[in-house]
Amino acid sequence: MSDHQSVVKTQAAGSSVGRMINRDTSPSISFEFFPPKTEKAAETLYRSIENLAPLNPSFVSVTYGAGGTTRKFTHDLVLRIKKTTDLTVVPHMVCVGCGRDEMYRIIGEYADEGITNMLALRGDPPKGEDAGVFEDAEFPYALDLIKFIKKEFPHICVGAACYPEGHKETPNRLREMDLLKEKVDSGVEWLVTQMFFDNYEFYDFVERCRMLGISIPVLAGIMPITSKGGMEKMAELSPGTRFPAKLLHGIDWAEGDSLVKNVGIQWATQQVFDLLAHDVDGIHFYTLNRSKPTLEIHRNLGLYE
Ligand SMILES: Cc1cc2nc3c(=O)[nH]c(=O)nc-3n(C[C@H](O)[C@H](O)[C@H](O)COP(=O)(O)OP(=O)(O)OC[C@H]3O[C@@H](n4cnc5c(N)ncnc54)[C@H](O)[C@@H]3O)c2cc1C
Repeated sequence: MSDHQSVVKTQAAGSSVGRMINRDTSPSISFEFFPPKTEKAAETLYRSIENLAPLNPSFVSVTYGAGGTTRKFTHDLVLRIKKTTDLTVVPHMVCVGCGRDEMYRIIGEYADEGITNMLALRGDPPKGEDAGVFEDAEFPYALDLIKFIKKEFPHICVGAACYPEGHKETPNRLREMDLLKEKVDSGVEWLVTQMFFDNYEFYDFVERCRMLGISIPVLAGIMPITSKGGMEKMAELSPGTRFPAKLLHGIDWAEGDSLVKNVGIQWATQQVFDLLAHDVDGIHFYTLNRSKPTLEIHRNLGLYE
């Protein structure tokens, strides 16, 4: 490993992610995984975790299917990572479709297992429906979950999501910042962004946060494009995300997914290089359960051999 690895903070199992992401020292890195649905997918994921562990992430996070579709798988994967590795693991907690008693039980189970960090999210409406379906929900917004966790489990360090390019249901681009501030004022200790492909969007967003007095770390969400199909799926999931013309030229020029992957990894490498040069608080890699793109970005930057 090269000397540059000092930009990667050493993780300490079981400690607070909020404390580990410390802007006075160095940027954190973290990885997001999703619960696998088949044996083969599980093997790929466990291999990826093994491959990525030497990068010393501050934490790894595990996504959660809205409506509880993958709740058990999320729980099982979180505990497996906790029990079989030294990594700090952060479950995503999605509040829609979950009542207070059930949420209390789920968080309590995690807390009993020594999980001390969570990413509090609302979740998306089911396909074909809008957010009106959450009107009568016990937790209509992530804010309600954040307040619940901080009241019932004050020792848990809570993170929340944010959207440099705006969330698809944003009431408006000024009010959304006040709503974000409300999440932070309710006890959120770190933020992680939706993926973005133009760093300008991120820098501008962080500046807007700081203007409002949001001073907690903001982790930059990076997702390398690895196929045209994958890019189209990202665009669907996150309609606000802008794909810069330069990137699209590269993708158009590439023939076949292996060249598209090269272009995507090169693009993400430039993004990470620029973010590090701008003293970003941390970089959160959306890994899609693959290790190669993230490892390659680190190698390209001389951060890993
Ligand atoms: C890093 C990250 C990880 C994610 N992981 C998962 C996952 O594991 N599982 C999953 O299902 N989804 C996940 N998502 C997607 C997320 O659940 C959706 O984007 C969801 O639509 C919004 O979640 P939120 O926590 O940002 O919601 P909220 O903070 O509740 O915001 C939702 C929308 O409502 C608006 N809003 C908030 N409060 C109010 C109010 N009082 N009045 C009017 N409007 C309001 C906000 O501006 C925003 O537009 C993730 C997203 C990110 C960025």
